[in-house]
Amino acid sequence: MKKFLPLGALLLLGASSLVAQKSKEDVMKALDSKAETYGTIAHTIWDYAEMGYLEEQSSALLQETLADEGFTITKGIAGIPTAFKAEYGSGYPVIAILGEFDALPGLSQQAVPEKQSAGKAAGHACGHHLFGTASSAAAISVKDWMTTNKIKGTIRFYGCPAEEGGSGKVYMVREGVFDDVDVALHWHPGSANAASAGAALANKSAKFRFHGISAHAAGAPDKGRSALDGVESMNIMVNMMREHIPQDARIHYVITDGGKAPNVVPDFAEVYYYARHGNRDVVVDIFDRIVKAAEGAALGTGTTMDYEMIGGTHELLPNLTVQKIMYDNLVKVGGVTYNEEEKAFGEKISKSLGKESLDLATAENIQPYKETAQAYGSTDVGDVSYTVPTAGLGTATWVPGTPAHSWQAVAAGGMSIGTKGMMVAAKTLALTAMDIFKNPKTVEAAKAELEERRGKDFKYVPMLGNRPPALDYRK
Ligand SMILES: [Zn+2]
Repeated sequence: MKKFLPLGALLLLGASSLVAQKSKEDVMKALDSKAETYGTIAHTIWDYAEMGYLEEQSSALLQETLADEGFTITKGIAGIPTAFKAEYGSGYPVIAILGEFDALPGLSQQAVPEKQSAGKAAGHACGHHLFGTASSAAAISVKDWMTTNKIKGTIRFYGCPAEEGGSGKVYMVREGVFDDVDVALHWHPGSANAASAGAALANKSAKFRFHGISAHAAGAPDKGRSALDGVESMNIMVNMMREHIPQDARIHYVITDGGKAPNVVPDFAEVYYYARHGNRDVVVDIFDRIVKAAEGAALGTGTTMDYEMIGGTHELLPNLTVQKIMYDNLVKVGGVTYNEEEKAFGEKISKSLGKESLDLATAENIQPYKETAQAYGSTDVGDVSYTVPTAGLGTATWVPGTPAHSWQAVAAGGMSIGTKGMMVAAKTLALTAMDIFKNPKTVEAAKAELEERRGKDFKYVPMLGNRPPALDYRK
């Protein structure tokens, strides 16, 4: 950490650890006293803007932050150089807090309320710089509280790379790194404060590669076999298939390589597919049919085809036992209050989103608790949730109404609106972990709920099979 932060910030982080923390109020106050330091860490990672599996500096900064606070670091877990585990304490119960830190390609943006690239290859449009930092902050504050009050048990932080399309946590689950964890907590940046039961779609993704024969497209077309014909035939079949799959399934594709010049019959073409649904068995079935379409397309066009699994995640399994505790703590913590500067920033962002005015109430308030949720995306937290009782929350780190993966999300995440929302998450995660440490009976109830929800005969089968981590998927 020495090379990343000013000395003053370091001293602050060290000194406040010494303050006695007995009650939840003490722990929240201690976190408030470090808000500036954690803000600096988050904005440093925001500035690095490293993509999936390439998060070397971001991962190193969080590792150093946790190591300086007395956590034991195990890095490079599950065969992923940027994945790590940070641990403090020993024995039962083991509570894990998940953190992410990867950025998204093509979404570079400055911390200003109008669209202005920062000139980088990627940007933190999903707020994972806040995610990793707040989760680290929560783990550190729980550690301080455990030390002061001689609490038995283990607090862990998991540095989870490549959430965006890289399925980082799936390899970690497959490797068994969560097997001795009793409860896992996570959160996600957003444009409102909510701790309802989450939902996410199961997902399988792959790159299909067609190989043909090059030839002059006008002079000797009969000698050629077009790999692009293979891709297009496959897409036609899959598009027809949409009529014959469950209505709530999703299939998306992009042609990532369609050849280079119209006068050359392409000998290589590639298409990148996603299949999603709320039930992983449905996803597996649809994916197998997509593979059949690819095989048929190759046969019909005189090309050959192979494919590489890229990602695969389970749907999210809620755990209401832990979720309700988290909700109560979020209500205790409260939402985000903007200062004048943030209001002016928020007004401009709101206008850019086509809104009449800034919706301050959504940033300040907590959304009502719900036991069921609608899924619109996928997350590799799904696989963790099938292994360990898991609960999460979202906080208003972005101006209300901001969609994820937008320049507006990058902009707010690069200034104080993002770091204020992040501290709401850090506090809620910390208080929730404290409640579980104080009442280990919760762990047994949460585990019983997990058993019941996933079924007696459940056996974890990773959706991406036995492939090694796709460490170069962003290169
Ligand atoms: Zn995300």
